[in-house]
Amino acid sequence: MPPKRRYYFHDDVVEDDARLVYCARCDEAVPVAHFYDMTIHPASRVSDYDRYLRSRKAWDQKSCPLRLHFSRPETARNIFA
Ligand SMILES: [Zn+2]
Repeated sequence: MPPKRRYYFHDDVVEDDARLVYCARCDEAVPVAHFYDMTIHPASRVSDYDRYLRSRKAWDQKSCPLRLHFSRPETARNIFA
């Protein structure tokens, strides 16, 4: 079985480059300033923190299907958590 890939929550700091943070809205790693630029995701009804909580809640369920192929360290750094 191949090693599990690292799973990133919204706002998780990228493990091998702390200058980057994962944005679930863009589905990519972006500079931290991305989250403070209100012109990038201006119409979002869900705050960054709520988005993080949603990921956390799904991931914390033992039956979460993502856990089959992904791992996320308990000590993962997140800029809003
Ligand atoms: Zn984004």
